[in-house]
Amino acid sequence: MYTSTDNGFPKRWDVLVIGAGNAGLCAAITAAEAGCSVIVLDAAPRDMRGGNTRHTRNLRAMHEAPTDVLTDAYSFEEYFEDLMRVTRGITNRELASLTLEKSAELTGWLGARGVRFQPALSGTLNLGRTNAFFLGGGRALLNSLCRHAEGLGVVLHYDTEVAEILLDDGFCDGVRLADDSVVLAKKVITTAGGFEANLDWLAEGWGEAAKNFLVRGTPWNTGTVLKSLLDQGVKPVGALDQCHAVAIDARAPKYDGGIASRIDGVPFGIVLNRDAERFYDEGEDFWPKRYAIWGRLVAAQPDQVGYAILDSIGVTRFMPSVFTPIRDDSIEGLAGQLGLDPAATRQAVDLFNAACPEGPIDQSVLDGKATTGLVPDKTNWAAPIAVPPFYGFPLRPGITFTYMGVEVNYSAQILMADGKPSANLFAAGEIMAGNVLGQGYLAGIGMTIGAVFGRIAGAEAARRLNR
Ligand SMILES: Cc1cc2nc3c(=O)[nH]c(=O)nc-3n(C[C@H](O)[C@H](O)[C@H](O)COP(=O)(O)OP(=O)(O)OC[C@H]3O[C@@H](n4cnc5c(N)ncnc54)[C@H](O)[C@@H]3O)c2cc1C
Repeated sequence: MYTSTDNGFPKRWDVLVIGAGNAGLCAAITAAEAGCSVIVLDAAPRDMRGGNTRHTRNLRAMHEAPTDVLTDAYSFEEYFEDLMRVTRGITNRELASLTLEKSAELTGWLGARGVRFQPALSGTLNLGRTNAFFLGGGRALLNSLCRHAEGLGVVLHYDTEVAEILLDDGFCDGVRLADDSVVLAKKVITTAGGFEANLDWLAEGWGEAAKNFLVRGTPWNTGTVLKSLLDQGVKPVGALDQCHAVAIDARAPKYDGGIASRIDGVPFGIVLNRDAERFYDEGEDFWPKRYAIWGRLVAAQPDQVGYAILDSIGVTRFMPSVFTPIRDDSIEGLAGQLGLDPAATRQAVDLFNAACPEGPIDQSVLDGKATTGLVPDKTNWAAPIAVPPFYGFPLRPGITFTYMGVEVNYSAQILMADGKPSANLFAAGEIMAGNVLGQGYLAGIGMTIGAVFGRIAGAEAARRLNR
């Protein structure tokens, strides 16, 4: 039996939440509204609070008819079909259905707690029908939820890293902090994110290539809590190398570059690897359906690097990233600036241009304007890279979040290795997203999973305390 260390924390909280992102705040608010005393511990300092949540823009929600923030309809059936397609059926269907059904409540629930929504911006992956956009982005959502939580009496502690979950035969007494002190609680909800910021752990699934990944979000999601749980016999879910990863500008910082470093120009040019070779069909499908595979594609190339090459027409066809593209009047000059072999790059562009069909492309449809005779061919929007100046973006894999996590049940209870639920330990958000996302990704579902399971975890914790 543990005793609370003399660290200023009361003897035993009703509910302890680890992680102050979307999932944690939804859990904390729900438990506090039910009358529980709630503490939230987060490893990050206050000014960097909010984990990956502060980088987000929207969540995906089903709706049978237009709402105040979503257009048309997005039925359960269509949402489910979309999820099945991207995961190729690698999902827990019961939990996936629960997530989708409960997604319908989210904009109303969040709205009542201070979160504001806005119409979708153009160029944001065309998500206005399916996804609700946060006014002011994830940081504004987070500030609203923190303000609301604090108004309910939730105690938020920053700079407080949880090092270990105190777990004994499926029962959780509380947590040990990095400074070795102990915080006790009757119910514990883990919402500490994935392990995407832990390059050593990523290397176990990806090999040395992981060292060249850029981490798009918070450096604090190192997986310490997940590791502690798995080491103590909690049932894992998801594969070690499954994650959401996109191609981002190689000039982005190692951590926390956020959304603005993503390069959306791939369909309107070509992408070469270090050896100036094309390696994948840049025009396979609409970008919203393909952007999330390009992190893995670049990760599989030598030195985990790629180069998007466009001409002065292609470069106008997408929303620019925060980085100015590298520009030159000649292909050889551009190649030199990018560190590519000029002759090999010229040859790759000439081969591509010669294989392009006649006539203009139409980016509003899958226009079938395909190259012929290339390996691989570009199957839509194949226009010659011919009008100077020419532009290049260096690309790296940008990891968003990992999918391997802890298995949970319908009540967000963590399952032990024998399949039995823990009596008082719950999980929500990235740390359990792999239950729904075995592979692939559907834009906006990360926040949906976190909010749905955060609310369930908070409500179940409170219910089991008879609140
Ligand atoms: C650039 C970017 C853009 C994204 N855009 C979207 C989007 O528009 N829509 C969408 O649905 N999803 C998006 N995602 C994914 C989304 O961010 C996540 O799915 C979601 O925020 C996860 O919420 P969470 O609460 O589980 O984790 P987080 O928000 O990451 O919160 C986890 C918290 O746990 C804390 N923590 C970690 N370890 C410890 C520890 N040992 N002790 C104490 N605290 C700890 C961290 O400091 C962090 O505050 C995006 C991600 C990124 C990186």
